[in-house]
Amino acid sequence: MSKIVIIGCGVVGAAIAYELSLISGLEIAVVEKNTPASGSTGAALGVLMGAISQKKKGRAWRFRSTSLKRYETLIPELEAKTGLDIPVNRQGILKLLFAGDDLEKWHKLQEFRATEGWKLEIGDRDYVTQHCPQLVNDNIIGAVYSPQDRQIHPVKLTQALVAGATANGVKFYFGVEVKDFVTQAASDKLSSCQYLETTAGKIAVEKLIISAGLGSTPLTQSLQQAIPIRPVLGQAIKLKLDRPLGNPVWQPVITGNDVHLVPLGNNGYWLGATVEFPTETGESIADAKLLEQVHQEAIAFCPDLKNATILETWSGKRPRPEGIPAPIIEQLSGYSNVLLATAHYRNGVLLAPATALEVVQMLLKAKI
Ligand SMILES: Cc1cc2nc3c(=O)[nH]c(=O)nc-3n(C[C@H](O)[C@H](O)[C@H](O)COP(=O)(O)OP(=O)(O)OC[C@H]3O[C@@H](n4cnc5c(N)ncnc54)[C@H](O)[C@@H]3O)c2cc1C
Repeated sequence: MSKIVIIGCGVVGAAIAYELSLISGLEIAVVEKNTPASGSTGAALGVLMGAISQKKKGRAWRFRSTSLKRYETLIPELEAKTGLDIPVNRQGILKLLFAGDDLEKWHKLQEFRATEGWKLEIGDRDYVTQHCPQLVNDNIIGAVYSPQDRQIHPVKLTQALVAGATANGVKFYFGVEVKDFVTQAASDKLSSCQYLETTAGKIAVEKLIISAGLGSTPLTQSLQQAIPIRPVLGQAIKLKLDRPLGNPVWQPVITGNDVHLVPLGNNGYWLGATVEFPTETGESIADAKLLEQVHQEAIAFCPDLKNATILETWSGKRPRPEGIPAPIIEQLSGYSNVLLATAHYRNGVLLAPATALEVVQMLLKAKI
């Protein structure tokens, strides 16, 4: 049996653990310093901007389409296996277009997506009024509707992945922090990681996957191969109204000017998120003014939100790699048995299934 250890139990580490648990003959452990989904995942809105993203080729699009397809099987599979409910919005994503937006670009994307079987509808202002009467703003010129994109509850998804993986034999160590590593030379050029030094003692490892989000930087530093990943803070709000916005039976995610309005059922909505880079001194402190801007932006296209009660506000830190595109899924330089699957920045929930499948492929091809 090959002992695979995953550090981090956000949506990415949990998805990797679950996909690996479907392969027989592996001994898998996950080490998480807090609880599942207590990092960036716990703050996410779970909007899966796949077909509606402008990505068309390369890894960026391949990962998005792979994830959307895997989600369609993964959710029923996990719900059947665990008995847990994973809230998914299957009514798609409606993206508002405003005066000055390049309509031609969207028509080209629509044609391109159609060649691969993905539907996009492009409608004018009347289309918006007819489908979503709650959206009222003179600058709206139309919308793009993507029926195959989804929104998913990130925490409940992660918990279901953990339950599914546990049922398949994966061992989870929660409340255990990885502090350091014991390594040895594997060849002239490569080292290998032998043990994790954790707050609960040593854990032996044959293959190591680092999915620790922002925690991946200090971990790679301990391995003398620091990978810079910076926090980009995001704040969001939970709102409650006395009735649903617009058509009660058609509640897609609405996105306008990079603000997402996510229906939750029972007249509840999530709204977010701000994008706040750290200061020059590296500080990352939530700015209340920026959250209010997001709130006002949403009221500007959906005036009924003025009547909503704010139930909760929160913030989280997205792990953004520095100088290279997100995410980082590759062998850690200098090591024969360490793989990085981290730094998913704004799309970790969307890309978790594809990341997990990629990691499985890399392990099967013995790339680490
Ligand atoms: C406000 C907000 C909104 C977002 N909305 C969306 C969205 O709509 N759609 C989308 O796709 N993405 C969204 N994201 C981004 C998404 O949340 C992240 O990309 C994703 O959660 C990253 O997952 P992860 O598992 O890599 O990291 P994390 O969730 O941060 O998990 C890493 C885990 O590693 C653990 N860890 C770290 N160091 C150690 C150590 N030394 N030992 C043991 N454990 C360790 C941490 O405790 C943590 O639980 C949003 C993010 C924010 C903040």
